[in-house]
Amino acid sequence: MSLSEVMAEAGHEQVFFVADGASGLRAVIAVHSTALGPSLGGIRFWRYATDREAFADVLRLSEAMTLKAAVAGLHQGGGKAVVRCDDPDRPRSESLLRALGRAIHELGGRYLAAEDVGATTRDMDLIARETPWVTGVSEADGGSGDPSPVTAYGVLCGMRAAARELWGDPSLAGRDVVVQGVGHVGSHLVRMLVEEDASVRVADVHAARVEALVRECGVTPVAVDRAVIEPCDVLAPCALGAVITMRSVEQLRCRAVVGAANNQLAEPAVDDALAERGVLYAPDFVVNAGGIINIAEEFVGYDRTRALARTAEIEATTARVFATARELGLPPGRAAEVMARRRIEREAVPGGRWQPGDPAPWTGGEASRFQG
Ligand code: NAD
Repeated sequence: MSLSEVMAEAGHEQVFFVADGASGLRAVIAVHSTALGPSLGGIRFWRYATDREAFADVLRLSEAMTLKAAVAGLHQGGGKAVVRCDDPDRPRSESLLRALGRAIHELGGRYLAAEDVGATTRDMDLIARETPWVTGVSEADGGSGDPSPVTAYGVLCGMRAAARELWGDPSLAGRDVVVQGVGHVGSHLVRMLVEEDASVRVADVHAARVEALVRECGVTPVAVDRAVIEPCDVLAPCALGAVITMRSVEQLRCRAVVGAANNQLAEPAVDDALAERGVLYAPDFVVNAGGIINIAEEFVGYDRTRALARTAEIEATTARVFATARELGLPPGRAAEVMARRRIEREAVPGGRWQPGDPAPWTGGEASRFQG
C-alpha cells in the first residue's frame, strides 16, 4: 500500500514529514482527526530504524489520541509527533527542538503538542519559544508541568470503577495490586494506592526505583519477569505497551487489568480473550486520560483543582464503558471505541474540520495564551 492509502485507511487527515539539515531533526507529525477540535497529542522521541517505522507508529498513536480525547469528553481531536533519535534519554539540542517548534507553528494550531515517551518539560519549554501551540510547559511559564501525578490519579479512579464492577464496592482497601513499571506514573500510583490501604507489589527493570519505593512506602518487590503473571486482584501495567499478548492472557492470575501504559494489548483479539477468561480490562486509553485532561486545562488557564475534578470523572466514564460492553455484548476495549466513535459522529464540527483562525472550539470562550 502507498503511504497515502495507509493514511486514508485509518482515516487520517494529514501527515507531515519534517527534516531540518542544520539540527538533524527528522520528525513525522500526524493529524488524525480535528472533528471535535484541534488535534492534541504528545511528541515521542524514539529509535525508529526507518521513516516507514516512524510513520506507522505516528499513525497508530494519533488515532488512539482521537479515541482517548473523545471518550474523555474533551473538545479535542487526535494527533501525535514522532522524532527519530539514537538515544531518547539523551537531552536534545535547542536547535533541534526549535526547528520542531517552527514546524508545529506552521500547522497553525491544528496540532497541539505535549509530552510523550522520551520528552521532558524542558523540551516543551524550548518548543514554546517558537510556537504557542504546545502544552505541558513549566508551571513557571504558565503551563501545567509534569502530567504524571494527574495521570496516576485517573488510573486510580479507573481502578475504583473496576473494583465496583467486580466486587460491588469501589474501595481499594485490602486489594492486592501489582504495579509493573514505577517510573513517573507508576510511582505516583503506588503512593496513592498505599494511601488507600491497598496491598501493593512493584516491579521495574530499574532496581533503584523499586528499592526507593520499598523504603518510602513499605511495598513489596516482585521480579520483573513475574509481574504480569503474579496472582493478584489488579494488575496495573505502567511500563511499556503490548504487555498482554494472546499467550500471556493464559498466564494471567489477576481479576482486572487497569494501568497507565498506552496500547497494553498486543493485538485487538486480546480484548476478547481477556473477557473470555473473566479478566476485567479497563481500556488503557480511558483510564490514562488524566494526562490529556490535565493539559487541556491549560487552554482555559491552568487550575490544578479543576484538572483533578475533571480527572475524577474517569471513574464514571470507566463504569459507562463496562455498562456499554454488557449492553452491546462487546469486550470493554471495543465498547470504549464504539463510545468514542458515537461521540465523534454526534458532535463533529458541522461543515468540516477545525481550521486555523477559527474560534477556539475547546474553550467555549476566551483561550488565554492559545489564541495563536
Ligand atoms: P516512565 O518512563 O517514567 O516509566 C516507565 C517505567 O517502566 C520505567 O521506570 C521503566 O524502567 C519501567 N519499565 C520498562 N520496561 C519494564 C519492564 N519490562 N518491566 C517493568 N518495568 C519496566 O514512563 P511514564 O511517564 O511513567 O509512563 C508509563 C506509561 O504510561 C507509558 O506507556 C506511557 O506512554 C503511559 N502514559 C503516561 C502518561 C504520563 O502522564 N506520563 C500519560 C498517559 C499514558
